[in-house]
Amino acid sequence: MEKTNNTPQSVPQLSIVDSHTHLLPGRLAEKIRAFFNANMDGDLAYPIDHEAILAMLARAGIGTVWSLPYAHKPGVAAGMNASSADIVTRLAGNPVKVVGAGTVHPGDNDPAAIVREAHEKYGLKVFKLHCSVGDFEADDPRLDGAWRYLAERRMPVIIHLGHAVSGHTIAPELAPVERLAQKFPRARLIIAHCGHRAGPQALDLVEKYEGIYADLTPVVTEPVALPAARVNQLAEKLLFGSDAPNTAICAEQNLAHVRKFGLDEAARAAILGGTARRLLAEVV
Ligand SMILES: [Zn+2]
Repeated sequence: MEKTNNTPQSVPQLSIVDSHTHLLPGRLAEKIRAFFNANMDGDLAYPIDHEAILAMLARAGIGTVWSLPYAHKPGVAAGMNASSADIVTRLAGNPVKVVGAGTVHPGDNDPAAIVREAHEKYGLKVFKLHCSVGDFEADDPRLDGAWRYLAERRMPVIIHLGHAVSGHTIAPELAPVERLAQKFPRARLIIAHCGHRAGPQALDLVEKYEGIYADLTPVVTEPVALPAARVNQLAEKLLFGSDAPNTAICAEQNLAHVRKFGLDEAARAAILGGTARRLLAEVV
């Protein structure tokens, strides 16, 4: 990349990939912001304006973001996918590259067709499922056709597995992703927030299944709690994420948290971008 902005020392210039952000259309972003304001003490670290978010992330050394929409009910995914593609086009001149994602809901009329359209018409290569906001399980059989498509093309799918309003996940809620890895071995399944507060159990799945990955995105005010040695060991399957703008922890604090794991150079490079770049490159 030809980026030359000034970034903090020790952080390579705009080389970091943030695989978990939400650059959403205005009205939806405002609704989500109102939800957070009503449900949390304190403030979130980012405004909802896309350019402002990207400028703040760039100052932390982030050069690429994956922007993840998520369908909260049946019937909205196709429109969200179209707007995800529009947002990518609108931000095409930004120094931070935006990788748009698609979403789908098991209650949609034809989930497989929605996924195909997102990929073939809008060029979206990444997907997001949000099981608490959408109130479903990731392995809902109505999604089987969609999963077949996603798995065949090895499209990375970020899955928020927990159902709590707080954003937390508990260990039994990890079961659907394990069933998906068994049923669709080619699927690339990324456990959002590393299943926090069941992070160690999520890492067990990352270790056991070739298709299971995890992102290290904090949950609103809490960085993910994980044993450093295992983060180092599994780094090739872990991705950095900020959750901007829906987070009280700014990317710099989040990067400092990752540094505290005391990672070796290869592990650090994988988490801060290598894993995400490889996953995208493997999409067929
Ligand atoms: Zn998120």
